[in-house]
Amino acid sequence: MSMFDLSERAEEYRTRLLEFMDSHVYPAEAVYDEQMRAAGDPHYQPPILEQLKEQARERGLWNLFHPYPEWGPGLTNLEYAPLAEIMGRSHIAPEVFNCNAPDTGNMEVFTLFGTDEHKQKYLKPLLEGTIRSAFAMTEPAVASSDATNIELSMVRDGDDYVLNGRKWFASNALHPHCAVLIVMGKTDPEAAPHRQQSMMVVPIDAPGVTVLRGLPVFGYQDREGHAEIDFDNVRVPAKDVLAGEGEGFAISQARLGPGRIHHCMRAIGMAERALELMCRRANARTTFGKPVSANANIQDWIAEARIDIEMIRLLTLKTAYLMDTVGNKHARTEIAAIKVAAPQIALQIVDRAIQVYGGAGVTDDFPLAMAWAHLRTLRLADGPDEVHKRTIARQELRKYRDDATAKKP
Ligand SMILES: Cc1cc2nc3c(=O)[nH]c(=O)nc-3n(C[C@H](O)[C@H](O)[C@H](O)COP(=O)(O)OP(=O)(O)OC[C@H]3O[C@@H](n4cnc5c(N)ncnc54)[C@H](O)[C@@H]3O)c2cc1C
Repeated sequence: MSMFDLSERAEEYRTRLLEFMDSHVYPAEAVYDEQMRAAGDPHYQPPILEQLKEQARERGLWNLFHPYPEWGPGLTNLEYAPLAEIMGRSHIAPEVFNCNAPDTGNMEVFTLFGTDEHKQKYLKPLLEGTIRSAFAMTEPAVASSDATNIELSMVRDGDDYVLNGRKWFASNALHPHCAVLIVMGKTDPEAAPHRQQSMMVVPIDAPGVTVLRGLPVFGYQDREGHAEIDFDNVRVPAKDVLAGEGEGFAISQARLGPGRIHHCMRAIGMAERALELMCRRANARTTFGKPVSANANIQDWIAEARIDIEMIRLLTLKTAYLMDTVGNKHARTEIAAIKVAAPQIALQIVDRAIQVYGGAGVTDDFPLAMAWAHLRTLRLADGPDEVHKRTIARQELRKYRDDATAKKP
């Protein structure tokens, strides 16, 4: 078997997933839109989604992301990559298969660092898809791309910690099923920079937690919501500190590796769908006596899209392979590289597809405008491009560190 072959089980899931997308998910997109429009509430959970979840679960197309066999099929990152790509083709699909961010990352955190009580109370219903969760790290008052700046205060008081501060961009916190937040804050301002923060499990209805608003993204109120949340004297029992005081930074590193590459896998799916739509539309519409697809510049965009997709897919697969074989930590340069490349390239392809669609491209009659908005946010969410480039550049420079100090004859 070559490295380009899918394993037998991944191939089997891929076939079933493709079939389910064609028979159930794509036809449901219009129903979803209709139900959302009729509800008039951007954070409504439309019945079609719950139906699709049930059907996907019955077929075992469920928790495919989860690396631990007791909780799902236990696929490797390399095996999951082509499946996540397929899910990325439709904005409703990831939740249908219980593979959506940020729940996937939170489920991994609960699996790795949760107590038995956390597993029972939160992990189990998350795996069953009956509750949702949010991850609250970013704060409006500090530059949060440097996680050492995070300053929501967590002060020990008897058997509890008392939390005070403000978070924003907590995705999923406006989902009607959201039950729990994983909150990062500062427990010890005197400790070493990477030991000051801790993570705590906080029920969303804990006294003192107020969801203030959903932040619009390019004017969209995403269904799961990106919430600004106030914490006012929120009491959290010490048993709900994940992995112990001072471990917040380490947990966030563990959490963000898989989450980042999952975003990239889905971005490739979005790019593939945009390329498909671009080709169909360019063939179907005629201007100045010939199909739009007959123009050299349009063919150039199409060719470049194919080349670029193949390149980011290869880097995604290499990164997934490294995560499986040498671990997330040793794959961090590749994770950073693909986290920069995939959203940027997918964004350009979607942008060109929008151009080929003309005015229709920026409406919500087609999935391109929303895909563009989502991909643009991916250049910020889970770390801005510049911060990932910093990681890569530092790694490169380290190779030649000794040169600078070496005495040249
Ligand atoms: C749609 C969306 C969903 C999100 N979901 C979540 C979530 O669920 N939970 C959560 O906690 N957060 C979430 N975030 C927040 C996201 O992770 C942060 O916005 C991101 O980490 C950047 O932090 P910041 O906004 O504080 O920007 P800042 O830290 O203020 O940085 C601003 C800019 O400074 C520049 N910059 C920073 N460092 C460097 C450097 N070393 N070199 C050069 N330039 C630099 C970059 O261009 C960067 O964009 C989400 C964001 C979006 C847009």
